[in-house]
Amino acid sequence: MLLWDNTPGSTFKTGQAVTYYTEGIVSDSTRYPCHHGFYFKGLHVGCHAHASPVSIVPAISTSCNSYFCWGLYHMLANRRKYKTLDDAMDVWRDYMVSMGFGYKLGIDLPGEKRGMIPNAQFYDHAFKHWNPLSVISISIGQGEVNLTPLQIANLGATIANRGYYIAPHVVRHIQGKNLDKKYMEHHRTKGSVRAYQEVIAGMISSVRGGTCAHAFHPGYSLAGKTGTAQNRGKDHSVFMGFAPVDTPKIAIAVYVENGGFGADFGVPIGSLMIEQYINGKLTPGDAAQADALQKRHISYAFKHPLTHSDSLRLDSIKRVNMIKDSLKLVRQKQDMAEAERMKEAQKKKEAEEKEKKKQPQNDPAIRVEPEELIKQDKKEKDKEDDKKEKEKEKNKDNKDSRKESKDKNKGTDKSKEHEKSKSKGQSKDKSKSKETINRAK
Ligand SMILES: [Zn+2]
Repeated sequence: MLLWDNTPGSTFKTGQAVTYYTEGIVSDSTRYPCHHGFYFKGLHVGCHAHASPVSIVPAISTSCNSYFCWGLYHMLANRRKYKTLDDAMDVWRDYMVSMGFGYKLGIDLPGEKRGMIPNAQFYDHAFKHWNPLSVISISIGQGEVNLTPLQIANLGATIANRGYYIAPHVVRHIQGKNLDKKYMEHHRTKGSVRAYQEVIAGMISSVRGGTCAHAFHPGYSLAGKTGTAQNRGKDHSVFMGFAPVDTPKIAIAVYVENGGFGADFGVPIGSLMIEQYINGKLTPGDAAQADALQKRHISYAFKHPLTHSDSLRLDSIKRVNMIKDSLKLVRQKQDMAEAERMKEAQKKKEAEEKEKKKQPQNDPAIRVEPEELIKQDKKEKDKEDDKKEKEKEKNKDNKDSRKESKDKNKGTDKSKEHEKSKSKGQSKDKSKSKETINRAK
């Protein structure tokens, strides 16, 4: 009860429903689809056959995996309400801790274990990158979540109290002494009373016709929740419940290792114990059932090699994540190869362009022209040279004649310059006179 913790299975869904409802992630009218499970982005979490879509009360009563996966997904992926995934995860963790999970409840018996509630830092260490889908299995009480059977029973008591618990204790009275204050204190969870009422409606419905139908007893009202905790061998059979619903006297958790489905062992054992506690005895029919149960034998499969059916039963989420990781690796390798190809292609292009630039510089040195062509070229060059010389001589003659005409012109130019300077002086005087006028003003 205290020294051992394990995955709580579907009993944990009640705490999830309280969290989603109080946080406003789901309301009475919120319905999520379930077609034999939760399908999203290649991830599949299986569920049994039932009507779809489901709202909060039938989701608890039929223990629908899909509903609780969608709820956690919409909570952790809600960037309007929570700034980051870490923030959303920490809010979720705070709800769980407020329900007495993840820490010792403080019972007056030695050796209590604290169980395990993961937080954002845990996943930051566990995974390089994680997202709501990486942790989705915690929504159905699988994966990294661990509770002691005492914590599951305390969950039942908290629901019965509509949202608070008193630290569980064995000693009720001490003669001549007061009971330790910590065993009288009310620990209020973060869940709203309204949310707890929704969960109780689901648990009552579960007993009337859902997964806890065998627990129905005409003498008193009972609220219950089954759980089937996945295991390497045969699953653990779990039941959590309380009675009577409106004036609760007992809350109970039954955890039968390798007991299979919750309805196989957990529900009948739990309902018989509740009946014994409330009525002080069992009806003849229930007494016969108790006898039969005592004679039933569960073969515990310790440390046997995994059979084919066992391996098939292994957590589907873990398998899908492994496939996802391997696909990522393949994609990364493909991207790297593509990048290298692009680099090599670029290098080739650059090298080709360099060679193209070099080729025209080398050509003249390599080119060998036939002698005749060279001779013709020479003759033509000589002719051209002659022409050029003749033209030069002509130009010289022209220049000389021009010089003479220029010298004549220079005289007239100088007279023009004189006139220009004169006019400049006049304009300067004018501007000066203007200035003096302005100053006078
Ligand atoms: Zn379902």
